[in-house]
Amino acid sequence: MPAALLTVNLGAIVANWRALDALSAKTVETGAVIKADAYGLGVAPVGRALQKAGAKTFFVALAAEGATLRQAIGPAARIFVFSGYMRGDEAAYRDFNLTPLLNNADQVTRFLADRQGAACGLQLDTGMNRLGMEAAELASIIAQIPALNPVLIMSHLACADEPEHPQNAAQLTAFKDLTATLPDIPRSLSATGGILLRADYHMNLTRPGIGLYGGDPFIGAQPVVTLSLPVIQTRPVSVGESVGYGATWIATRPSVIATVAGGYADGLIRAMGPNASLYARDVACPIVGRVSMDLITVDVTDLARVQAALDILNATQTVDSLAQAAGTIGYEILTSLGNRYERVYKD
Ligand SMILES: *Cc1c(COP(=O)(O)O)cnc(C)c1O
Repeated sequence: MPAALLTVNLGAIVANWRALDALSAKTVETGAVIKADAYGLGVAPVGRALQKAGAKTFFVALAAEGATLRQAIGPAARIFVFSGYMRGDEAAYRDFNLTPLLNNADQVTRFLADRQGAACGLQLDTGMNRLGMEAAELASIIAQIPALNPVLIMSHLACADEPEHPQNAAQLTAFKDLTATLPDIPRSLSATGGILLRADYHMNLTRPGIGLYGGDPFIGAQPVVTLSLPVIQTRPVSVGESVGYGATWIATRPSVIATVAGGYADGLIRAMGPNASLYARDVACPIVGRVSMDLITVDVTDLARVQAALDILNATQTVDSLAQAAGTIGYEILTSLGNRYERVYKD
């Protein structure tokens, strides 16, 4: 059987990176966030494509991800790690020339003891209460800043996908206040959502992630993924017969049901069942019955001819529309995509 096929359009990722770059001034550097295996799409091919397009600064969540990325893209680019200088990661930082975004005083002390002179950044908390130093902790390490000589100071916005949310302006002010007395070190505040706010949020360096991969809130992004599931069987189903676990769907007309290879073990989460469709080109074929671990059943009654495969992600049903059907966000759909797909990368 042909495998389910996940096609990743690297050209679209590059186009989205360029489009986000064009939204800030020429003096603002546009980085790229490729944590979690480039949001599930493959850190090596995505990293190489973005580097070729001109990206010089990458962000990952974990030192181990940074090590993988370094091996894929070579020595030139900067690789920042959001989790900072965690115990046990010392060798990875040294061997793969990774730059920690130091989150607390303990990380600062240990980094200076091990690595003084190596590049680092500082991560400040301006209201999200997730990672980074608040005012008092920053004050406690202020005397070490000359020795640290950080190359970046960053913080993260909690509500940037809601432009009218008052926390955006509050965090901008908090970031300016916290950094006002610090030396002239490059600043970074904005992920995809922040880039779409206003130029004051752009600072010196931006950190887009989801927008690169075609997801909200970057409206107008080029779609990046197509996911096509092979049809294993089709069968006629009479009025009154049920389909799938729990017999939750019952035919109300003579129907044709196609069973495709793909299920919740592939990240096609069960909750999407009643609200999503598969597509024969641009014709929607509703999912009927429950999503199983490896199989999905689809109503193809209205198709003149059933093709060898049906799409669950394409330009019509994007990661965000599928996410909406499942009651989640595009980020979760992307990062859940399973490892049973055959992956094809298009330029
Ligand atoms: C994930 C992340 C980003 C990228 O966010 P998107 O919303 O995907 O653009 C940027 N900065 C930090 C600190 C993050 O955790």
